[in-house]
Amino acid sequence: MTKPPFRFARAASLSLMLAVVAACGGGAPKPFPVPPAEADLPPANTAAIRRVVLVHPPSKEKVDVIYWHDGAYDAHAMAEVAHIMRDRHTGETHDIDPALMDFISGVILRSSLPPTTQVDILSGYRSPETNAALVKVNRNAARESFHMQGRAADIRIPALKGDAITEIAKTMQRGGAAFYDGSGHTHVDTGPVRTWATYSTR
Ligand SMILES: [Zn+2]
Repeated sequence: MTKPPFRFARAASLSLMLAVVAACGGGAPKPFPVPPAEADLPPANTAAIRRVVLVHPPSKEKVDVIYWHDGAYDAHAMAEVAHIMRDRHTGETHDIDPALMDFISGVILRSSLPPTTQVDILSGYRSPETNAALVKVNRNAARESFHMQGRAADIRIPALKGDAITEIAKTMQRGGAAFYDGSGHTHVDTGPVRTWATYSTR
């Protein structure tokens, strides 16, 4: 049996541990630093400007705008955002909540990607008519009424995995976020902070 040397080694490592704890000022070892709260982080992109690059893949339309600068949202840029996020079935355009752009660009910022990272918009504004038609064929659509207020988007960010986008969005606590496995997209909205189970529509 070689128990004694083992016991000795344990005793030695225990006293070493106590010495380390004592050197740290006693008490329990300090935990890792807590990340700053959302309010302490820059809102999105840099403090000076906020930029988004949106693409509507089926039409290849693209909008690359600085939608916030000099301390305010830019109405012309937001009009371009509204245009690319229009209801593709009826052609109707609706104002888009600028906070939705902050949510999306915040996901990119938190992923350490540049503000020029492409965001694919699969669905933006939905007219009540389009939404009603969708609800009939897609049981997920009933959860997505914020599309009718210009406060929701179904997105993909080609540089990031779909479920990773959703997890980051949930962590941000800025609104609703849910991952749609079947199509690999993330729904984000500026409604209450929440998520939900989705159903495959394939
Ligand atoms: Zn959606």
